[in-house]
Formats: sequence, structure tokens, C-alpha cells
Amino acid sequence: MERIFNWGIYPTIDAECTTLNAVDKIAAYVRTTDAFIPRGNGRCYGDSALQPKIFSTLALNKFLSFDTVNGIIKTEAGVLLSEILEVIVPKGFFLPVTPGTKFITMGGAVASNIHGKNHHKDGAISQYIECFDLMVESGEILRCSRTENTEHFINTIGGMGLTGVVLTVTLHLKKIETSFIKQKAVKAKNIHAILDYFEQYQHYTYSVAWIDCLSKGDSLGRSILMLGEHATPSDLQAQQAKQPLQLHSAKQIDVPFMFPAFALNELSIKAFNFLYYNKQRQQEINNVVHYNPYFYPLDILTNWNRIYGKNGFTQYQFAIPFENGREGLIKILTKIADSGCGSFLAVLKTFGKGDAFSSPLSFPIEGYTLALDFKVSPKVFALLDELDKVVLDYGGRLYLTKDARMTSATFHQSYGTAFLHSTKFQSLQSNRLTI
Ligand SMILES: Cc1cc2nc3c(=O)[nH]c(=O)nc-3n(C[C@H](O)[C@H](O)[C@H](O)COP(=O)(O)OP(=O)(O)OC[C@H]3O[C@@H](n4cnc5c(N)ncnc54)[C@H](O)[C@@H]3O)c2cc1C
Repeated sequence: MERIFNWGIYPTIDAECTTLNAVDKIAAYVRTTDAFIPRGNGRCYGDSALQPKIFSTLALNKFLSFDTVNGIIKTEAGVLLSEILEVIVPKGFFLPVTPGTKFITMGGAVASNIHGKNHHKDGAISQYIECFDLMVESGEILRCSRTENTEHFINTIGGMGLTGVVLTVTLHLKKIETSFIKQKAVKAKNIHAILDYFEQYQHYTYSVAWIDCLSKGDSLGRSILMLGEHATPSDLQAQQAKQPLQLHSAKQIDVPFMFPAFALNELSIKAFNFLYYNKQRQQEINNVVHYNPYFYPLDILTNWNRIYGKNGFTQYQFAIPFENGREGLIKILTKIADSGCGSFLAVLKTFGKGDAFSSPLSFPIEGYTLALDFKVSPKVFALLDELDKVVLDYGGRLYLTKDARMTSATFHQSYGTAFLHSTKFQSLQSNRLTI
């Protein structure tokens, strides 16, 4: 037994964690274990990958093939995106979709049907999955694709580990000429300005806005929009051009211990947001940056989750349709600003259409998506219950991979009720939500 938690350090649980890499041993484990959940690198925030019995995929860490002509890679499910980047970037390829951290596994990417800053243009990871091998409750391995075992293929993508253990994944990559991003950062004075900018710049491949969610009145929702395109060789400065396919550095700064509970309070969050917004003096900045700070600014700090203290934090990410979305966002930001429960990290993105080849549990729906981090407290949970009502009123939903607290009623109202899964694969979350 060991104490296990995911990225939010909330909730924590005593669990028996089994790590295996031989397929026959995994099959025996699957057949003989009553209820368990597969777990990758624990980068979901809440309880999706928690159960008294956990199967860790981290020993499934082999690269199986890399077709450098067509840009197709096959790996075992426990390989991290950071490891994949190390192999593909020097050959002129990039991940077609990437989340805000590179420290997740391929299996976790499939199970959460991850999205990136390019969903409005390129969709979720589902669109780039050629096939995967799935071990189902009998221990049998199913090759799943758009043409083989289609039902399992669809229900596993975004299926939160509830259909079986993904063993291998085959993924289509994106061709790049350089590993740099041509970035444009635009300051927006309030929520109306930022939503107008999203529309104006929707042709950009990547877009994400950082929002100061403690600002009020005419400044409600003031933000910085960060747009990006993969840079071509002619975009690079002399120093960058020396190594156009440069990799991310392995250097990281550790947060060595849990911060005390008082370290993050309304005042410190206000000060951070003020400084962040005002550090950009010009209305617009254009520059060329490496993919690492553009896509993964938080990865430089290992264990940054400890900043929230030992009681942990929760990430609240919702999506609401564009229709009346502006009104919904204003209501939510006003409630947050009035509550004084600040969030260091508040990022707004837009989603394009969902994908027919993904589970009904898959999160993206066409519209706006806002993600906010909150230190766990009874006051925050009361606020989030309030926000749930607004999200539901506007036809929205919460992202399961970030969630640790929504009620079963909220879940069923927003996602419906029909999901293919096996009772062998259960998480604290699937039990809480009665999936
Ligand atoms: C800083 C940060 C930024 C993030 N940004 C984004 C973002 O921009 N977009 C986004 O979509 N997500 C984002 N995430 C969430 C993250 O991408 C997902 O939670 C992802 O699933 C984590 O992968 P993991 O390997 O850590 O899986 P875990 O956290 O261990 O598990 C997540 C889920 O996947 C299931 N699972 C894992 N491996 C397997 C397997 N082999 N077979 C079957 N099921 C499996 C688990 O059961 C669980 O339900 C972010 C997370 C962090 C910490």
C-alpha cells in the first residue's frame, strides 16, 4: 500500500499499485483483479486515475516503430510525450495535439482524448490515432481502429480508462521545419476585447489566453492572448538558425517541499496577476520562441503543484457552446471575482467541432473552454457548486480529467447516460459519478 494522488494532490488514497510490462502477466492481473483502474503518469488533476487497486503503465515504456517518411509513430502506452518529442523533433516532426505539459503518457493522452491550443483548427488527439491495442477484462487484446473493433476504438478515446488497458498506441505526427514558434502576444483590456480577438485571430493554428480572474468592472476578464504558428527557417534569428530543430532542455527547477497553506492568498494572487498583465507594456509583441516555453511554460518547475500546499488544489475546466457563451463567461468570471477565491492560472481557449470517433465521455464541444486552478477549501467548493449551475444553464460540461468533486447529477445532466465500459475498470471518479 502507498499513498497515491494525482496532480492536484486532492484527493489522496492508500492504494496497491502494480507495475508490470509482460503481456501475459498483465493479462493474469486483469483476469484476477476484481476492480482496478489503469494509471499513466498521474497528470490528471483529480480522482480519474485513483482506486484502491491501480495498474501503472509506466513500465510499458518501449518505442516500437517510427516511420519517418509518413510521420507515424508506435509506442507502448507508458511512453511520455516528452520522450516522444526527443525522438521526433530532430527528424522534423511534432505532436499533432499537445496538452500544457509534456509529462503525460500516450495511454493517458488517449484515455482523456487530450486537446491543445489548436483544437479550433485541428481537433483533439482522436483525429490522429491510427490504432491502439486494448486489453479488455478477459485479458484478450483487441486491435482497435476506425475499421477494427470500432466500438472499443470510439469508447476508449476519452473513455477515462473505463474500457480496458491501452497497451500500445499508433499516432500520426505533424511535419515541422523548425522547433520554434512564431508568437504574437496581444493584450486585451476586458472579456469583450479578448473574445473579439479570438474571433479576429481564429485563423491562427494555436491560440490561448491567460486571464486575470480577480479583475472587476470594466477590466473584468482582462487578458493576454498568445497566438502561435510553427516557424519556418526564414523566421529564425541567427542563434536559433544554428539549430533549427533544437530539442527542449532537460533542465528543471524543483519545488522541494509543500508550501505552507498561507503562502497563496487573495493578496499574493492579485499581485501575481497585476505583475503578469503589466509585464507586457506594448499592446502587441511579436517574437520567435522555442516550443518548450510556448507549449509547456509550467514544466520548467518540477512539482509546481506543491505551491498549493499539502491540502492540494483542484482544476475547474468547463466548456460552454459559443451561443450565449459570452454571457455565460461574464457570469462565471463575475462570480469568481466577487468570491475573492483567486486562481493563479486561468486559461481560455476555443474548441472546434467534436469528433465522432471518441467516447461520449470525451470533453470537447464546440465553444469556449476556461480552466482555473483553485486551492482546495470549503469556500472554493461552495463557489464551484455555484459555477456548475451556470455551466449547466449554458449547456456546458466539465472536463473529467480535471475533476474531483462534481456530483453525479451534474455529470449525467451534461454528458447523458450511455457509456460502454466494464465494471472491472473503475475509478473513484466513475464510482462518484455512477458511470
Ligand atoms: C500542467 C498540466 C497541463 C495540462 N494541460 C492539458 C491540456 O491543455 N489539455 C488536455 O486535454 N489535458 C491537459 N492536462 C491533463 C492531462 O493531459 C490528462 O490528464 C492526461 O490524461 C494525463 O495523462 P497521464 O499519463 O498522466 O494519465 P493519468 O493521469 O495517470 O490518467 C488519466 C486517465 O487516463 C487513464 N489512463 C491512463 N493510462 C491508460 C492506459 N494505458 N489505458 C487506459 N486508460 C489509461 C486513467 O485511467 C485516467 O482515467 C494537463 C495536465 C497538467 C498537469
